[in-house]
Amino acid sequence: MNASNTIDPRASTTLSLKGKIALVTGSASGIGKRIAEVFADAGADIVIADLKLADAQATAAAIGQKGVRTLAVAMDVTDEAAVDAGFDQVQKNLGAVDILISNAGIQIVAPIEDFRFSDWKKLIAVHLDGGFLTSRAAVRQMIASGRGGSVIFMGSVHSKEASRLKSPYVAAKHGLEGLAKVIAKEGAAHNIRSNVICPGFVRTPLVDKQIPEQARELGISEDEVVRNVMLRETVDGEFTTVDDVAQVALTFAAFPSNALTGQSLVVSHGWFMQ
Ligand code: NAD
Repeated sequence: MNASNTIDPRASTTLSLKGKIALVTGSASGIGKRIAEVFADAGADIVIADLKLADAQATAAAIGQKGVRTLAVAMDVTDEAAVDAGFDQVQKNLGAVDILISNAGIQIVAPIEDFRFSDWKKLIAVHLDGGFLTSRAAVRQMIASGRGGSVIFMGSVHSKEASRLKSPYVAAKHGLEGLAKVIAKEGAAHNIRSNVICPGFVRTPLVDKQIPEQARELGISEDEVVRNVMLRETVDGEFTTVDDVAQVALTFAAFPSNALTGQSLVVSHGWFMQ
């Protein structure tokens, strides 16, 4: 093979987050936890914000072994006072946030005719109220610091497509795209970018819980849920991984200009193609 046609891995650029402060919500588990680890490897100081302080502290302590500063914050993203107090704590201990990953999420599945209004409100609160409250707090710090920053929402293929049994989840994930576009427009003058990551199914506790629930609702086996519901539309029958999602997050976070803003990127083994 002609050597000029091969990529020399030594020539590839390493994305750096050195000197940045990144706050990741819902980062005591799953996708958020992996993003926090990958961002620490890229040099960022890390804030683990999650519901339970003990879980957040354990994750922050493990990530601290990588030699970056870490802070654990107990934060219910649906609670305005808790979100604002958490961001104040970050400002006092580490400084202003440069990167927000608004990632905390839950899933509740049921057919719409049986969906409890209380469950609808609970899910919408975590995803949409949480997205609003955390991005508002982050944008305030990014404007005040004069450094700008990057606001990244965890959307989903369900920001683009619908699935049965997921009325509030699909509505909320579509809504996050709108919020990100507004922040992209309002934030530009302050060097604030905003984007959405849209993963396909990733094996995390959120998905593991859903497999038996969907099997029950749809009257099929758990194996059929995985093959025929979750992965049927992918190009290769594969789950997306937490690493796949973390690499997309790193690209959005490290991208240096407003050229990449107001966008959403689907990482789903081709389940959804734009
Ligand atoms: P997970 O259950 O592993 O982690 C979710 C985390 O969010 C947990 O640590 C939980 O404590 C936290 N959390 C829940 N409610 C919270 C609240 N009110 N305040 C603060 N923290 C809260 O789930 P995951 O799969 O890693 O999901 C993370 C995000 O990725 C969610 O927004 C989810 O919708 C999205 N997503 C997941 C998948 C998937 O297949 N797993 C696919 C697309 C998008």
